[in-house]
Amino acid sequence: MNAQPKASHYINGRFVEDEGGQPMEVIYPATGEVIARIHAATPNIVELAVEAARAAQGAWARLKPVERGRILRRASDLLRERNAELARLETLDTGKAIQETLVADPASAADALEFFGGAVASVTGDYVDLGGPFAYTRREALGVCIGIGAWNYPIQGAAWKSAPALAMGNAMVFKPSENTPLSALALAEIYTEAGLPDGLFNVVQGFGEVGAALASHPIVAKVSLTGSVPTGRKVLALAGSHMKQATMELGGKSPLIIFDDADIENAVGGALLANFYSTGQVCSNGTRVFVQDGIRECFLDRLVTRAKAIRIGDPLDPDTQMGPLINAQQHEKVMGYIEIGKAEGATLACGGGVPRLQGLEGGFFVEPTIFTDVVDDMRIAREEIFGPVMSVLAFSTEEEAIERANDTEFGLSAGIFTRDLPRAHRVIAELQAGTCWINHYNLSPAEIPFGGVKQSGIGRENSLAALHHYSQLKTVYVETGNVDSPY
Ligand code: NDP
Repeated sequence: MNAQPKASHYINGRFVEDEGGQPMEVIYPATGEVIARIHAATPNIVELAVEAARAAQGAWARLKPVERGRILRRASDLLRERNAELARLETLDTGKAIQETLVADPASAADALEFFGGAVASVTGDYVDLGGPFAYTRREALGVCIGIGAWNYPIQGAAWKSAPALAMGNAMVFKPSENTPLSALALAEIYTEAGLPDGLFNVVQGFGEVGAALASHPIVAKVSLTGSVPTGRKVLALAGSHMKQATMELGGKSPLIIFDDADIENAVGGALLANFYSTGQVCSNGTRVFVQDGIRECFLDRLVTRAKAIRIGDPLDPDTQMGPLINAQQHEKVMGYIEIGKAEGATLACGGGVPRLQGLEGGFFVEPTIFTDVVDDMRIAREEIFGPVMSVLAFSTEEEAIERANDTEFGLSAGIFTRDLPRAHRVIAELQAGTCWINHYNLSPAEIPFGGVKQSGIGRENSLAALHHYSQLKTVYVETGNVDSPY
C-alpha cells in the first residue's frame, strides 16, 4: 500500500520538501504498515508558508466576493468528481470504513465549499441613520488565518476551516494532525486547479510545536483549532497572549436522552450512530446514553442485537461497517477505558475485546462496546474516550435527566429521542450544549452552526456564523454637513 504524496508541504501553489524536518511516518491503521514518509516543517517552512499567505491575501480580499465564491464552487465540483479516489485516500489515512468515507468526508468538504462559495456574496454590512450623518459597517477579512486539524475528519476539517476563511478574503496556513497528513495536500492541489491564486491555501506538516509556531507567528491574525480540551487550552492561551482571534472546536462527553415514548428503532439507530460512526472517534458523540426506566429493557435488547451485527474488518471492503482506531496509542487508551469500566462495576453488555481479523493482525481494532448499569461518577461516564465505547445510564424523570446530562465540564452536543414535541423543545432548551439533535444524532450539514459551550469550545464552524468568525467589523462614520468644532 502506497500513498506517498509528491512532497510533505504545499506552499505558494506547489509541493515543497525540506528534508531537514523531523521524519514522520504515515501508518495505515488497518495493518500498521507505513504508507508514506514525510517531514515535519522546519522553522524555514513555517516562515515560507506564512509569508506566502501574507503576500497573496491583500489582492484576494479586494476581489468581488462572488468571484472568490466561484473558485470555491469550482473546487467543490472537483472534490465531488474525485470523491472515490479521495475517499480511498482518507480511508488509508484514517482507517475509517470506505462506506463512510465515500459519503461523509470529501462530500462534506465539497458541501462546505459549495455553501460558503454561494453564501459569501450575501454578506453585508449595516447602515445606521444618525439623522443627517450616517454610518455603515464593512465586514473585512482578518488576514492570515491558521487552521489546525484533528485526525478524525482530516479533509472535512481542512475544508470547514479554509472555505469560510477563503470566502471572506483571508489566506490560510493549515496544519493537519501528524496522524493524517495526506488529504489536506489533495485539497490544496484541488484549490490550485480550481483557480485559487497561489499562496492562499498552504499546508505544512508537523507535530504540536509546528502548530504552536504558527499560532504565535506575528503576522497571523487568527487560529482555528479542532482538537482536545488540553490542546485547546494551550492554543487559546497562546493566541490570547498575542491578541489573536481564536475558534476552538474541542472534545465532549455528550448526553443522548431516550424517553419512554421514543420510537425504539429510531432511538437505537441514533444511539448506534452517536457512538460507533468513525469507530467512535467523533467529537460530538453521544457517549452517555440516558434511557428512561419504562423503555430500558426493550431498548437494550435491540441495542445489543444491532451492535453485535456491526461488521468490523478491512476498511477498504465496501461491506465493512467499522474500521480500526487511528493508532496504537489510541487503541491502548480505549482498551484501558474498557478495563476501567469493568473495574468500576459497569456491566459489559457487548464487545470489549479485540477482534482477530485475518491479514489485519497489525491493525488497531476494537469491538463495538456497550456498558450498562453505568452511574454518573464512573470515569467511563465522565471522560472522553474517543473510541467505540457507549455508556448506558438509567433515569426516571425529565428533571433528573436534564440535571445529570448537564453535570459535565463539556458542552459540545446533546440529543433527545421522544415523540412528545413540547417536551423535546423544553428539554433541549435546558441542555448546556452548542449543537443539539431531536430524534436524530450527529448530522452536521454546512448550513447550520457547529460548536460547543463550556470546555468544549469557543466560536462556531459552518453556517453564516463561520463567515463572521473569519471577519472583522469596520465602522465608518460619514458626515453630511459641516464640522462643528469648538476650536
Ligand atoms: P489533539 O488535541 O491531540 O491535536 C489537535 C491538533 O492540535 C493536532 O494537529 C495537533 O498536532 C495540534 N497540537 C497539539 N499540541 C499543540 C500545541 N501546543 N499548539 C498547537 N497545536 C497543537 O487532538 P486529536 O488530534 O487527538 O483529536 C482528538 C480530539 O479532538 C478529541 O478530543 C476530539 O473530541 C476533538 N475533536 C473535536 C472536534 C470538534 O469539532 N469539536 C472534531 C473532532 C475532534 P499533532 O497531532 O500533529 O501533534
